[in-house]
Amino acid sequence: MPPEAPLGSVRLVGAGPGPADLLTVRALRAVETAQALLYDALVDDEVIGLAPPGCVRIQTGKRAGRASMEQAAINRLMLRLARRGLRVVRLKGGDPSVFGRVGEESAFLKAHGVPVEVVPGVTAACAAAAQFDFPLTHRGVARRVVFATARLEAGALAMDWAAGADPETTLAIYMGSTAAGQVSQRLIAAGRAPSTPALVVENAGDPHAGLTTGRLDRLAELTAGSRGGPMLIVVGEVAALASAAGACEGAPAPGWRMSG
Ligand code: SAH
Repeated sequence: MPPEAPLGSVRLVGAGPGPADLLTVRALRAVETAQALLYDALVDDEVIGLAPPGCVRIQTGKRAGRASMEQAAINRLMLRLARRGLRVVRLKGGDPSVFGRVGEESAFLKAHGVPVEVVPGVTAACAAAAQFDFPLTHRGVARRVVFATARLEAGALAMDWAAGADPETTLAIYMGSTAAGQVSQRLIAAGRAPSTPALVVENAGDPHAGLTTGRLDRLAELTAGSRGGPMLIVVGEVAALASAAGACEGAPAPGWRMSG
């Protein structure tokens, strides 16, 4: 019998919000030396294109009409590739530790004895803040940032509304575009002022990113003009500082819009 291939490894890598120049150098090196690349729907083609020619590329997210793979199937696939001795890179949009299931994947691989490394990435909230010139924290105004998801689970919204009610908290809400109206109602009911500044950034990091600014009580309207890209909602005083002017790198193209 031929000797078994030595066990490979898996790197869980943050691809950042899109453009390849927002990858960390470590992430870039991981992609450039990958032998198998499993990537999510949000990962930009420019980044996937950095993998070497012989690299096996497998799309795991929903894209161009194809359904996404089940988490258990992704786990098994990573394990199988690592057992073939390959350097596997699992590429995720933004940062793998922010709504990226990194905990589940890492635990599964470690339980099977596969060496795992996590490489951080620029999360959507940081990319949006940089591009549109607002801070996530601001001395005396915003002392806390909450990364929250407003994904509907079995039709219900799971979120810590009381934490979001604090006027000095910046809420960065992921996966919230379809539930924006409910988010706004629940936050106001929890005590957040209806006039709290709010904004929505679509495709943060992309030169064609869209910024829409307004108030918490009009949140649903801010997401209404979606062009189908990923949307991040930011609620808090810092949103009043956002501006599409003056952004240089990744500057918004004519597609951006601002409403009041
Ligand atoms: N790990 C990712 C988040 C994955 S959850 C990160 O750190 O950014 C997917 C959600 O993230 C999307 O529904 C959207 O709310 C947000 N998102 C991801 N990329 C985005 C982008 N480029 N612009 C705006 N929002 C984005």
